[in-house]
Amino acid sequence: MIIDGKNIANQIRLNLKQFVLKNDIQDKIGLAVVLVGQDPASHIYVNNKVRACTQIGIRSMVYKLPDNISQVELVQLVDSLNQDRIIDGILLQLPLPSHIDAQKVIDHIDSKKDVDGLSKNNVYNLQKGYDCLKPCTPLGIMKLIASTGVVVEGKHAVVVGRSEIVGKPMVQLLNLSNATVTNCHSLTSNLAQLTSLADILIVAVGQRHLIGVKHVKKGAIVIDVGINRLDNKLYGDVDFEQVKDIASYITPVPGGVGPMTIAMLMSNVIKAAGYDIKTML
Ligand code: NAD
Repeated sequence: MIIDGKNIANQIRLNLKQFVLKNDIQDKIGLAVVLVGQDPASHIYVNNKVRACTQIGIRSMVYKLPDNISQVELVQLVDSLNQDRIIDGILLQLPLPSHIDAQKVIDHIDSKKDVDGLSKNNVYNLQKGYDCLKPCTPLGIMKLIASTGVVVEGKHAVVVGRSEIVGKPMVQLLNLSNATVTNCHSLTSNLAQLTSLADILIVAVGQRHLIGVKHVKKGAIVIDVGINRLDNKLYGDVDFEQVKDIASYITPVPGGVGPMTIAMLMSNVIKAAGYDIKTML
């Protein structure tokens, strides 16, 4: 079965819009998006996020900054947004230019406004299992898995990739749901031997079709996070055509994890504004 992330994400966005309408809080919640430089992909991602805010009734303010902005200036902006009462969430669009230490800037974001869940306080909170803002992509993946009705507890989950933004928080969330988790990375030997043991396989690497039939156990849930552009087409990290016949559930690229990331960002912004929206998701 194909997990239709686009449809699930649209439903969540609709629920959030209704929540905003019902509580009469249109344009009362504010998201600040900080965009540095001219990276075309970052501009597309920011436009998509702004559009999602508008659809739901969240106010968004985009701070477009030049490539040569200094780290000190960026931190000053973050500090002022932390103090700004009309800003509930702050998002620093990544990647940042190489002269800036992205993690240091992210760590300046007030953890209650850190809607990407990447600041050191939120990384700690997640590790401890405390209530906090969590990274959007892994959060969305947990919703996609939940949509299958398969219980995560007791399952063997294998996460391929250990980035700060996807792989590591994914491992934490699966652990919190009582899965047994294996984390593979670029130096893992015998990748296929490990991935083929997975009941739930999550791949976040960025290599087109890294995962084929030999990597997947029959009946596994396969979640493909990868986005690889080739000749104006998008491909995942999983060879979808081959793997779809042995997986029980699989996400497509595009239309799987991607739309969920934005839906979870929207829910994080509303959560950052102090609303309990668990039941809306
Ligand atoms: P990253 O480059 O920060 O990390 C890649 C990880 O893959 C590393 O931990 C590395 O150890 C591992 N890796 C590299 N080669 C490997 C190999 N041969 N075998 C096993 N592991 C290997 O990437 P990221 O930011 O986590 O993103 C991964 C992919 O997911 C990219 O394609 C990115 O575009 C995509 N992505 C999608 C979304 C979404 O919303 N759909 C969100 C974030 C990232």
